[in-house]
Amino acid sequence: MEYICRICNQPRPESAFTEKSHSLHTCKKCNVLPNQRTEERDQLDEIFKIFMQTRISHKDTVRLKTLCTSKYPKVVIHATLVFEVSELRPYKKGRFAFLEQKYPELAKRIEDAGFFYPQYIKANSN
Ligand SMILES: [Zn+2]
Repeated sequence: MEYICRICNQPRPESAFTEKSHSLHTCKKCNVLPNQRTEERDQLDEIFKIFMQTRISHKDTVRLKTLCTSKYPKVVIHATLVFEVSELRPYKKGRFAFLEQKYPELAKRIEDAGFFYPQYIKANSN
């Protein structure tokens, strides 16, 4: 089983993660200390945190819109993705099954960005 790291975007084996980095969807190599993080990394982490909330609030969508104009291309991609998700399904519960069924193209982009893990997807389809 391989998992996509949302920072380096590489599929990596289970052994490339620690328990903590796994929950953050980052491989060990990318799971650097907070004081070593760049502005780009801080913004990427902020987007992921919004995505993992039970519900994406209006305030969060305003913030996502701002991040959609970030100077970092990867931040723009992630912010746009999560913004699209927030418009369709602000609630986390049942989100992936919903997206996979109604918006498969968006679900695929979310998966490729390392926001959903394959085993999660598998457990939730059918
Ligand atoms: Zn990584």
